[in-house]
Amino acid sequence: MQKEFINFAREQFNTQEFIPLHVPVFLGNEKKYLENCIESTYVSSVGEYVDKFEEVISAISQTKKATAVVNGTAALQVALRLAGVQKKDEVITQALTFVATANAIAYNNAIPVFLDVDIDTMGLSPNAVSNFLEEFGEVRGEDCYNKKTGRKIAACMPMHTFGFPVHLDELIKVCEKWNIPLVEDAAESLGSEYKGTPTGGFGKIGAFSFNGNKIATAGGGGAIVTNDIELGNKAKFLTTTAKNPHRYEYYHGELGYNFRMPNLNAALACAQLENLNLFLKNKRELAHRYEAFFKENGVKFRTETKDTKANYWLMCVELENKKERDLFLESSNDAGVMTRPIWQLMHRLPMYKNCQIDNQENAKYLEERIVNIPSSYRHND
Ligand SMILES: *Cc1c(COP(=O)(O)O)cnc(C)c1O
Repeated sequence: MQKEFINFAREQFNTQEFIPLHVPVFLGNEKKYLENCIESTYVSSVGEYVDKFEEVISAISQTKKATAVVNGTAALQVALRLAGVQKKDEVITQALTFVATANAIAYNNAIPVFLDVDIDTMGLSPNAVSNFLEEFGEVRGEDCYNKKTGRKIAACMPMHTFGFPVHLDELIKVCEKWNIPLVEDAAESLGSEYKGTPTGGFGKIGAFSFNGNKIATAGGGGAIVTNDIELGNKAKFLTTTAKNPHRYEYYHGELGYNFRMPNLNAALACAQLENLNLFLKNKRELAHRYEAFFKENGVKFRTETKDTKANYWLMCVELENKKERDLFLESSNDAGVMTRPIWQLMHRLPMYKNCQIDNQENAKYLEERIVNIPSSYRHND
């Protein structure tokens, strides 16, 4: 199968050269908007492209307010703070995720709790969260506490792995029962939908990333989205040094951040987002081709789950076992077709080794089997 896969990938991307996992494409107004931006002299932390970007993100995510920030990690960090996370609080998240999810919790001096994922979505399992809270949760007054540690469980942050939405209805139900605010790490899922609604706006607050490897890029960038206007305004305030508006006075009433997205980056992102639907369509077409190919070759290709629409940001296969996975990784990378295993579980990293975890059964299963395959936009359509 390895040889067939390498040939298939070479056919799809129409090249005999190295095939990366995911590269950005610039097909539209990118150069034009960047030139406009330079000509305007507004290349830095304010400008019309920043405003435009925020409007467009709010429209795409169907949320009431979007704030442009410097990257997705910063977006998550501030989103958690706005959800009410404070020093020594705990935040429930998934065992299997990109490290930025956990880092954003740690930057708030809070402590992650890593729970299992679902096999189908590869994202935070509502059952795992429910089981954990039945065992360790205790609602006192308005808040939920961890009986084992005595700490407040201040937020629950699922991540939509590779753009496949988690079981949101079930997760929202568990979070409501236990009075825990939901924060969505939608860094990978711009354009993905759950029951017809875009991801990002389901929780109290959510975050997107526009890093170079994501489905649409700002070069580097992020966005905080929410349906709570007051919270949204607070996001803008905190990420722009918490400066009180005044014609000339500098007054900062609390500790803010300089997390502003430069107008140059927003210009690039605005052009990218004009083509988001084209990217989504092109990648869905590739997913269909992969699906047919892998079916013929007896390998599980991951497709979107019931009630959801995936953006197919990074596509992946599930190999039989670790040995098969390693063979697949070796042969494809040897042949210049880039493939990469899913992340290692968070509690294996030195800075998170003492965090509370559950059995991680599904996460361990997926950790040994899931491999990302080249998923870029295809030019030869
Ligand atoms: C990319 C990513 C981030 C961070 O985004 P940056 O813009 O790179 O800081 C956060 N969480 C997840 C799951 C990601 O994939």
